[in-house]
Amino acid sequence: MQNSSSDNNYQIGLLNAMNSRLMKDDGIFRLLIEKSGDAFAYYDFASRKTDCLGNWEHFFGFASDQYVSISQIMDMVEERYCAELYECLMLERRGKEKEVLEFKLAGKDVWVELETCVIYDNDKNPTQKTYCFRDITKYRMMHDELSFMAYYDTLTGLLNRNFFVRSLEEMIDKAEKEKCVVSVLFIDIDDFRRINDGMGMLIGDEVVRKFGTMLREYSSDNVIVSHFNGDIFCIGIYDPCGVRSVNNILDSIKQRLGEPIELSNGAEVNITVCVGVSEYPEASVEAVELINLAEIVMFKAKHRGKNQIQYFDQPIIQEFIDKVEIEQKMEKAIKNGRFFMCYQPQYDTVTQKLRGIEALVRWKDEDGNIISPGKFIPIAEKNGAILQLGEFIIEKSLSDYSKWIEKYGQKDIILSINISAIQFKTKNFVNYIISMIKKYEVPPTNVELEITESVFIDDMEDIVSKMNVLRDIGIRFSMDDFGTGFSSLSYLRRLPIDTLKIDKSFVDTVVTDGPTRTIAEAIIELSKKLGFDTIAEGVEQEVQYSLLKNIGCENIQGYFFGKPMFVEDIDKLYKEN
Ligand code: C2E
Ligand code: CA
Ligand code: CA
Repeated sequence: MQNSSSDNNYQIGLLNAMNSRLMKDDGIFRLLIEKSGDAFAYYDFASRKTDCLGNWEHFFGFASDQYVSISQIMDMVEERYCAELYECLMLERRGKEKEVLEFKLAGKDVWVELETCVIYDNDKNPTQKTYCFRDITKYRMMHDELSFMAYYDTLTGLLNRNFFVRSLEEMIDKAEKEKCVVSVLFIDIDDFRRINDGMGMLIGDEVVRKFGTMLREYSSDNVIVSHFNGDIFCIGIYDPCGVRSVNNILDSIKQRLGEPIELSNGAEVNITVCVGVSEYPEASVEAVELINLAEIVMFKAKHRGKNQIQYFDQPIIQEFIDKVEIEQKMEKAIKNGRFFMCYQPQYDTVTQKLRGIEALVRWKDEDGNIISPGKFIPIAEKNGAILQLGEFIIEKSLSDYSKWIEKYGQKDIILSINISAIQFKTKNFVNYIISMIKKYEVPPTNVELEITESVFIDDMEDIVSKMNVLRDIGIRFSMDDFGTGFSSLSYLRRLPIDTLKIDKSFVDTVVTDGPTRTIAEAIIELSKKLGFDTIAEGVEQEVQYSLLKNIGCENIQGYFFGKPMFVEDIDKLYKEN
């Protein structure tokens, strides 16, 4: 007896200990569940009973012990998720062990993740099932924000570039099937730098945002609108006809930009835009290429000024391709010495004697083709290569010229060298010229630097004072292309120049057009009064020559008397003189 009672006591003690251990575990377990904020359910297939734990109130509006059936959950969920949710809750029907589903509660901004797990016996019959509902609103919002940032531009809310390209690709796929057209409009705000620099970046951003908001109104199932970056926008139009026609949209944008944009600080700004337009399939069948082509033609529009539209045009693209090619080849060509100088004679109309020679640069490419400076000088001016090239031009023409002096003696033939405004404006230009003239021992009074009016645009005083330093040592200055820029006769008076070159465009029509002749006469007369030499350039015909001579033009340059020549030919010319 003794034994069995102590056995009993021992067993009771053990059970108590186990019980209190279990109670403690259960407490920990419940605390963890409550604190997790999640809601759990455990379903036993044999007893068909569900045990619920956790924060059911938060999700479904009732306490865990009030759960009766799935329909209570279904009632609380946004309609569009119901079917999927039911499938996930009844996972055993599909024989699956685990599934996760995200859904949204009806009438609340709460996103829920449900994880259902089912346990099966050896015969693959379900025995137990668990649900876990978790609030994932925070993650969902972060995710939405991230995906917004991945697809949209945060400043304007418009599609970003990547998403625009994808959407445009889809449009093109559809257009291919339906034999339709897709238009791409590449839009760039004119003079945006002026707004940004003058009024500050924040104002710049506001202008972009307001303009973007305006453009967004055009977006529809068939029109996609994107903000690429800065002041660049792009629109894709599917099947542009009727109200969606490119012209309608552009007219409407133009009309709306007629009104100023009101800023939050009370100020108003007026903007205009330039637009390039390309079209699938005419221009290209690739989305990215369509955008690039629209951008290229947009640059052409910009070139014409503000508020311009340019439609796709193959020659424009070809010109661009040539430009890029020239730009790529230029650096190598400078290194490999592929540039050389030609000289074009200038004659005195009265004595018919050689007055001077103008140095004109040429580029012989690897295939032996001569590329004209009209093509590469503007590019070299843009990419800065003009500085290196300009030094070559100055040094080579002075060295050629010094050799002629050495060979044929001092003949008072003037050497004219074209100087790019960019080069003229560099800090050490004056010293450079002086050092080169010394190096080649050329009389400075025989050197004439040809500049254009564009030199004076930004800083007239500085330019004039530089010119005066050079003029003090005898160097001459010639105003090139006179008549093509702003050509103010009154300001000519204030410029320290020696020669005026009347542009070819005057010479072209001087014989046939009365008013041109009148202007030419006036220029020549004034030029004489101011004590300048006058040279008419681009004289191709005898009639032009005689007319110009009759109205008092002292010097002539042009194909009629001589084209630009190689060094050897100038050599002959010197001999004859
Ligand atoms: P530019 O300084 O006005 O040079 C005159 C241009 O007219 C030259 O073209 C010359 O070959 C061309 N020309 C002369 N007479 C006639 C004519 O009777 N008929 C026709 N159709 N054309 C004639 P080029 O050599 O092609 O130079 C074009 C422009 O490139 C030059 O215009 C100048 O702005 C620039 N350039 C040429 N060489 C240099 C250079 O060494 N340095 C710089 N900075 N620019 C240069
Ligand atoms: Ca010239
Ligand atoms: Ca000229």
